[in-house]
Amino acid sequence: MSGPLPAAPPPGERRHVEPRPDVVLIAGYHSPQLDVGVRLNTNEAPEPPPPAFLRALEEELGRIAFNRYPDRAASALRRAIAELHGVTAEQVYCANGSNEVIQSLLLAYGGPGRSVALFEPTYALHSHIARVTGTAVVAGERDEQYLVDEAELERVLAEAGRSGPGNPVVTFLCSPNNPTARLEPRPLIELVLRRAPGLVVVDEAYGQFAPRSALELLGENPHLVVIRTFSKTWSLAALRLGYALASPEVVEAMFRVTLPYHLDAAKQAAGVVALRFVGEMHERVARLVEERGRLVAALGDLGTEVVPSDANFVLFRTVRRDAVEVWKALVEQSVLVRDVSSWPRLEGCLRVTVGTRAENDAFLAAMRAALG
Ligand code: PMP
Repeated sequence: MSGPLPAAPPPGERRHVEPRPDVVLIAGYHSPQLDVGVRLNTNEAPEPPPPAFLRALEEELGRIAFNRYPDRAASALRRAIAELHGVTAEQVYCANGSNEVIQSLLLAYGGPGRSVALFEPTYALHSHIARVTGTAVVAGERDEQYLVDEAELERVLAEAGRSGPGNPVVTFLCSPNNPTARLEPRPLIELVLRRAPGLVVVDEAYGQFAPRSALELLGENPHLVVIRTFSKTWSLAALRLGYALASPEVVEAMFRVTLPYHLDAAKQAAGVVALRFVGEMHERVARLVEERGRLVAALGDLGTEVVPSDANFVLFRTVRRDAVEVWKALVEQSVLVRDVSSWPRLEGCLRVTVGTRAENDAFLAAMRAALG
């Protein structure tokens, strides 16, 4: 016995319990939503899924035994995803959005004494989830083109390595990168796969909008993890479904930290049904890529500096007028884009999601008015 228990507070008195000290220091991550006519700030698909998807889903929902727990291994869904990508179901891990996939990965591989490497500016949730799981973050810098050069890669890997053996346990790349929209060049991905001591995670949340994927490298690289989502190309952001493709060992480690029955039966069914609509998905991607070209050209004509995009969004520097003022002028015209101008390394920048043709027209008209 280790002495008497500390006295409990009197009944009814509020107890104050401090959260973990490192959690206290973590800032939240939110994208403010405003009530506007044209919402181009969160990189969602502009159109709902096809009506035939909804009809097929309704049918599938009717078959679910709702009094029973769902298939814990999500076998049918993982098989369907595996088939889509030409891998085995043991190489597929699914979770409630790709953010949760990243969380599972870092619960399994991160933690105290361990670090991840990443290159800013990049998707804020990579470092956020690392910190939440008690994992140190070693951040490198991208160059003016928002690319990672070899010297910076070596510097970051060496710095992370000093924090312990096997560090960084994960090196993150994001391809196309959010918020810059640039594809990570293939030689960089190959270099990181050769040089990083731990897992290499390529977040391809926007992968279908790009001409190349790191999936081609999965076969020879068991330490590669590619992450995808149903939120963008599949028009299913509300569903919260994402997945990782990795070696069976990595998938098994992620399952070890996963709560039982984490994927509900309705979501598993919806994922399987969605994959019957690959053709429609490709058509939507093609339309958005075409619209992206139109946006990029028009933003250039307006005298903004546009970063080349391989995603369903475009990052641009407003140049002729202060970015916050442009953002406000757009909101006044009922158009919402993402103001990233206060983020480090993105001074003067706004990020716009590619919408429908009509939404993009509304955005461009508002931009013309804002820039006079
Ligand atoms: N990765 C990247 C790069 C993203 O931009 C996003 C969405 N903003 C996600 C992952 C998360 O997607 P979800 O959790 O909706 O699958």
